Amino acid sequence: MRFIISGAAGFIGSHFCDRLIAEGHSVLALDNFITGATRNLEHLKGNPAFVFREWDICRPLEVEGPVDGVLNLASLASPKDYLEHPIETLEVGSVGTRNMLEIARQHHARFLLTSTSECYGDPLVHPQVETYWGNVNPVGPRSCYDESKRYAEAITMAYHRVHKLRTNIARIFNTYGPRMQLNDGRVVPAFIDQSLRGEPMTVFGDGSQTRSFCYVDDLVDGLFRLAFSDERYPVNLGNPLEMTILEFAERIRRITGTTVPIKFEPLPEDDPKQRQPQIDKAKRILGWQPKVELEAGLRATIEYFQKLDTPVAAR
Ligand code: UDP
Repeated sequence: MRFIISGAAGFIGSHFCDRLIAEGHSVLALDNFITGATRNLEHLKGNPAFVFREWDICRPLEVEGPVDGVLNLASLASPKDYLEHPIETLEVGSVGTRNMLEIARQHHARFLLTSTSECYGDPLVHPQVETYWGNVNPVGPRSCYDESKRYAEAITMAYHRVHKLRTNIARIFNTYGPRMQLNDGRVVPAFIDQSLRGEPMTVFGDGSQTRSFCYVDDLVDGLFRLAFSDERYPVNLGNPLEMTILEFAERIRRITGTTVPIKFEPLPEDDPKQRQPQIDKAKRILGWQPKVELEAGLRATIEYFQKLDTPVAAR
C-alpha cells in the first residue's frame, strides 16, 4: 500500500515511516521542519519505498495516485513549541488536517488522525476513558493545542459522516524514545539532558502531578494496528503505568546514576494534574497493549541522547 504521512520528520512520524517500510509499504513523507529534524529520516534516504517532500500541509497539496492511506501526524506537540507558535499550532490542526482529509477523499484512501490526551484537558475523570468529554480551558495558553486537536477530531468525524471516509482517531498519551528533540522542553528529554550534564533537574510545581509514559515502539504498533481497523471513534494509545513527576525524576536519577539535585520551578498554567490512559478499548479492538518496560525504554532513550552528533555536554 502507498501511504502519505505528514509530520514525517517528527519524533513519532519518523518511527511510523520506519514501521510502514518494514511492513513492505511505500511512503510519501511530508514535513515543513517547524519542529521535525532531517536527521530523523537520514537513514531512509535512497530507499526506493521512501519519498520525501518538504511541505507545509496548511497549503493545499495535489498528489498523484494511487494513495491508499493518509496518516496525519503533523503537529507542534511539545508545550514549549506550541506556546511559542500558537497560531501555527491552530492552523496545522485545522487547515492542515482539512487538507489531508481532502487528499484522502480525492483518492478514496483511509485516514488516520493522531489526536491527543490533551483533548481531556485537566481531567476530572481518572483514568481517562474515551467517552469522557474533557475539561479544557478554551482560552488558556494550552488552548491552541487542545482546541486544534478537538477541531481536528470533529472535522475527521464530519468527513466520515458526510463523505463516508474510513477514518481513525488515536488519542496519544505521553510518549518517549529516541528521536525526541533534546531541547523541546518536554520532561523526558529535559530530565535526561540535565542529569547527563550534571545540572539540577527542573521539577515544575511540587512534582505531584502525574503522567504515564509509553515507549515509542509500542505507540507506533498501536497506530499501525489502528490504521487498519474499522473503529471510527477515538482510541486511547498510551501506557497506563502512572507516576508522579517527582517519582519520574527519581527513576531517571537512578538509571543515569546521577546525584544532581532537584530544583523546583513554578508550575505552568493549566498543567494537567493527572493523566493516565484507560486502554481497555485498544486491548479489545486492536489486541494491543504496551510491552516495553519503562526502565528498558529509558535506557534506550538515554543511549540515543548520548550518541547524538552534538555531544550533550558541548551543546
Ligand atoms: N515538567 C517538569 N519539568 C520539566 C518539564 C516538564 O516538571 O523540565 C512537567 C510538566 O509540568 C508536566 C510534566 O512534566 O507536568 C509533563 O510535561 P511535558 O512537557 O513532557 O508534557 P505534557 O504532559 O505536559 O504535555
